[in-house]
Amino acid sequence: MLENGEIPDEYTLTTVLKACSRLGKIREGSMIHGFLITSGFPCSGKAAIAGSLIDLYVKCGNLAGAQRVFNQIGEKNVISWSALILGYAQEGNLAEAIELFKQLQNNSKQVDGFVLSSMMGVFADFALVEQGKQMHAYAVKVPSGSEISVSNSIVDMYLKCGLLDEAERLFNEMPARNVVSWTVMITGYGKHGIGKEAIRLFDQMQSNNIEPDGVTYLATPSACSHSGLTKEGEEYFSQLCRNRWVKPGIEHYACMVDLLGRDGRLKEAKDLIENMPLKPNVGIWQTLLSACRVHGNLQLGKEVGQNLLTLDGENPVNYVMISNIYAEAGYWKEYEQVREMAKAKGLRKEAGRSWVEIDKVVHFFYGGDDTHPMIDKIHRVLKEMERRMKEKMGYVHGVKFALRDIDEESKVESLRVHSEKLAIGLALCHGGWDEARVIRVFKNLRICGDCHDFIKCLSKIVKVVFVVRDANRFHQFKDGLCSCRDYW
Ligand SMILES: [Zn+2]
Ligand SMILES: [Zn+2]
Repeated sequence: MLENGEIPDEYTLTTVLKACSRLGKIREGSMIHGFLITSGFPCSGKAAIAGSLIDLYVKCGNLAGAQRVFNQIGEKNVISWSALILGYAQEGNLAEAIELFKQLQNNSKQVDGFVLSSMMGVFADFALVEQGKQMHAYAVKVPSGSEISVSNSIVDMYLKCGLLDEAERLFNEMPARNVVSWTVMITGYGKHGIGKEAIRLFDQMQSNNIEPDGVTYLATPSACSHSGLTKEGEEYFSQLCRNRWVKPGIEHYACMVDLLGRDGRLKEAKDLIENMPLKPNVGIWQTLLSACRVHGNLQLGKEVGQNLLTLDGENPVNYVMISNIYAEAGYWKEYEQVREMAKAKGLRKEAGRSWVEIDKVVHFFYGGDDTHPMIDKIHRVLKEMERRMKEKMGYVHGVKFALRDIDEESKVESLRVHSEKLAIGLALCHGGWDEARVIRVFKNLRICGDCHDFIKCLSKIVKVVFVVRDANRFHQFKDGLCSCRDYW
């Protein structure tokens, strides 16, 4: 077209740019951008083109480029704002995303439902309850805030931030609900370990003539699983198998493996995997492997571990899981071998990261992190807590969880620096521990057995209630007990 000396119009350019961004063709896209600049095309004056350029740069992970285009636009529309805001949010640069969102509000632009629920989703994932609340307050003031998808995202945000009462209240006040609304709530009950409520809601949903979909059929049995309601969970699964419209997928089978595994029915779980009409994936074997670990079945664990490595020998999580099962059984030589295999392949697992919000500021910690300005005080508080726990309850670190065959003293040290403990330590530094209050901590991975023990004991000697959201579920520690009843 260009060779023929024709100048493409705005519509053609937008279409081509969209295609580039969909296909991740950053080079081709920037060539078009370059062509537009050299030919003197008024990019910044054409909202649609500017929007597609921003979208292109965001999708290709070039936020600096997106920001540059954005800055040049004279008349910014909601589409270009949202593309940039979500770009920052998805990259984990929340401060920038929030700042831009504030500017957008100040520009008195009408924010649409899509941006609202996407932003809410980001706050939910990072459990940023203060920002979520502010967004909620904003949503009730704009027309798009009354869209069902926005209400669903707000309920979801409160659930993921651990504010169950708030979520329930909103859910009950919703003027209209769809299958997503019900499913969000059922999922939330499941993650909080309130299986009975999830079941009640599932039944209520059906009597309201709302058909459950595949996600609901996953949320309900998994809520049963988290609450130890094995029989009920099995019933919902067979209900799904009889359903004419929804077919069970691998995730539903994985949920059943989890349910049976928790119940100690490892052989049945293995049979289910081997006889299901779908090809087993990594996730389903991992589920069975962690059940083997919990029930200390090294024999089956080794077999499952072998399957996992055949299926995906490049996944660091598999090596960690297999080495853990050896470590907990005290087979340190095998443990080292598996670790060496992973090391030789250059595999590293995702770093554990926890965070806690204090006075509207979010503090992130990595395991062994010593970069926080209050780190010395945090360690002092944690040591003091350990001393009291030892004195009052005879608490000793469950050193088997350290998963390292080294002397006791350094085991204790490496356990003390797990990221969730550091986050709790910081929260204890602020506001003390003699007052009845709730400390909420969030973690990207599964909480380890020792931290779980530690927080349980801690909740016995202080008045604080601890709510920890890990990769799997919520744990509410109160008076020396956890809501997961030690199975997670
Ligand atoms: Zn830990
Ligand atoms: Zn727990």
